[in-house]
Amino acid sequence: MEFSEIQDKVMQNAERYGKACNIKIDEDFAILKLYEEVGELSQSLLIYRKKSRPEKFLPFEESKEQLAMEMADVLGMLIVSAKLHNIDLEEAINKKWISNLKKE
Ligand SMILES: [Mg+2]
Repeated sequence: MEFSEIQDKVMQNAERYGKACNIKIDEDFAILKLYEEVGELSQSLLIYRKKSRPEKFLPFEESKEQLAMEMADVLGMLIVSAKLHNIDLEEAINKKWISNLKKE
């Protein structure tokens, strides 16, 4: 799947979520939700690394799956935020993270 298709599908899913929950998916919602998801990522990483309260520990594979899902949530909300600001994340990543490699 091309990155642009991923971005479109992530945005469609956010709009579906907004309709189902009666939430306007706007720029403010997207960034605040991103912060929420970063918090959830932090929590899942603490559990995965067994640095949380022991009662929260999960079997390794389950905690790794939860970590992966929270990483997906963070990336998803970042994509939603970018889409709402008409920012092409693929272009930005190429410019910021990849184009330097081609110069070396
Ligand atoms: Mg989450």
